Amino acid sequence: MSDQKIELQVIAALKTVKDPDLHKDIVSLGFVKNMKIDNGHVKFDVELTTPACPVKEQLRQECEGKVKAIEGVSRVEVNMTAEVRAAHHNQPVLTGVKNIIAVASGKGGVGKSTVSTNLAVALSQTGARVGLMDADIYGPSIPQMLGIPITPPKGSGNNKFFPHEKSGLKVVSAAFLTKEGQPLMLRGPMLGGIIQQFLQNVEWGELDYLVIDLPPGTGDVQLTLTQRAPISGAVVVTTPQKVALIDAEKGVRMFQNVKVPLLGIVENMSYFHCPDNDKKYYLFKHGGGQRLADQFKVPFLGEIPIVPEICEGGDDGRPVTLDHPDSSSAQAYRALAGRVAAQLSIVQARENAEQPETTFELAWKE
Ligand code: ADP
Repeated sequence: MSDQKIELQVIAALKTVKDPDLHKDIVSLGFVKNMKIDNGHVKFDVELTTPACPVKEQLRQECEGKVKAIEGVSRVEVNMTAEVRAAHHNQPVLTGVKNIIAVASGKGGVGKSTVSTNLAVALSQTGARVGLMDADIYGPSIPQMLGIPITPPKGSGNNKFFPHEKSGLKVVSAAFLTKEGQPLMLRGPMLGGIIQQFLQNVEWGELDYLVIDLPPGTGDVQLTLTQRAPISGAVVVTTPQKVALIDAEKGVRMFQNVKVPLLGIVENMSYFHCPDNDKKYYLFKHGGGQRLADQFKVPFLGEIPIVPEICEGGDDGRPVTLDHPDSSSAQAYRALAGRVAAQLSIVQARENAEQPETTFELAWKE
């Protein structure tokens, strides 16, 4: 069979490969790129919408299997790539930032900053360009969790400043604006000023994802940020106890009121996995996060176990995702990052639904 005929069959085969999150085939989604066919040797890229795609390997295998089965194909090379797509085009603030993920909780102490930190690290470990904004103005803990010394940010002129950096992650925090150990004493209007500075004066450069660690609750800072920053989606962190779930519900309602898409709910400190007998113990009741997600018809993003090394890592500035990347807790955060990134792609696909479908340009033109 000629290479031209093979190409037509390859496209037809790839049209049967569906992205399980976006419910469309990868050709119509415009994922198939740079097709080259030479004497039955087929080579092409599959460009996903996020390097954190949880089904990347599954898609690669399906493409390879279906193309290999075509008569006349001698070899298949599938190259998986990713180009994170931008939400909220033409926004005047944070122009180089493609997606903003707000991490919120109804109350303090549920592990919101720990989730923000490990989510940001896990996303950056996939190769994405990631920033982390510690907007928990009264209790900024991200520098401590990442082991970044408290030093003033470096200015770049025009009142702008550069974020601190740790393992490729760009970080700003209210903690950098104070002397170490000193509280930041602010009145209401000054809060808005700090948030404005974080939104307008930071030289983030190009970012695929900016994770914002919001303060707990549904107060001034949360509202200012959700109104002034083009937030692409929000993650609500809760623990399984009823008192936490009641407050998490308020967080969910806040995002619904300000029309920020909810990427989902994550339940932290869900269970203890006992290494001695390999059993899971649900210390604070089971299934509350899932029920809250069902009630509001938003995705349940998963359970994070209660693990001493997560707490020690946070206290010592060595998050598990960086320090113990092979641990089951790091895997839980990576799975969470994959689901968050996939949900963002789903939200974007919904927003772009009215745009025309991509048609595949054949390499061979008669
Ligand atoms: P928040 O931001 O909601 O106030 P933090 O992220 O600061 O909460 O977490 C509160 C404390 O709980 C910290 O000491 C943190 O290390 C610990 N912690 C958070 N998640 C876990 C977990 N899954 N297992 C063990 N300790 C955790």
